[in-house]
Amino acid sequence: MTSSDGLIKIVTELKKDGEVLVVCRSCGHMHTLDISQCKDKPAEPCRMTLPCKGCGIKLEVLVNFRRYYRKVADFRGFFWREGEKDIDDAHDMRIVDVSKHGMGFLMIKPVKINVNDMLHLEFRIKSQERMKYIEKDVVVKRVIGNFVGTELVRPVGEQDKELAFFLF
Ligand SMILES: [Zn+2]
Repeated sequence: MTSSDGLIKIVTELKKDGEVLVVCRSCGHMHTLDISQCKDKPAEPCRMTLPCKGCGIKLEVLVNFRRYYRKVADFRGFFWREGEKDIDDAHDMRIVDVSKHGMGFLMIKPVKINVNDMLHLEFRIKSQERMKYIEKDVVVKRVIGNFVGTELVRPVGEQDKELAFFLF
């Protein structure tokens, strides 16, 4: 764990947006690091060194963004804009990518959507040979033609068995 120059290398994952938890392997001191400067380039690993606040040893931290890559998907479903809730209001869509924090989908028939709009999504995932219906609330981050990039109000977690299985 400790290399010859007294450096401890730690690979960690995002705790939540822009933050990681680093535990010193030498003394157990816990550090919360702001890594928001890495967020612009999530495809690249974020590396930093810092002295441990507990024992002073130098910690080299590598933040692993692997789980946060977008994975190509093909899930059919519907979305509703704010104020829409009936089946008559449902808009056809196809989810084309999924990450822990967001989803991108294609509108089958484009409707007016703006950045920061809240949408409700319902879609099907095939999981262990069975179709599961998933519901997610999202915030629109970008609209490019028929493509809508969104951020999940609640990131994929243990409560989302099928999505977590798909992603991880
Ligand atoms: Zn320490």
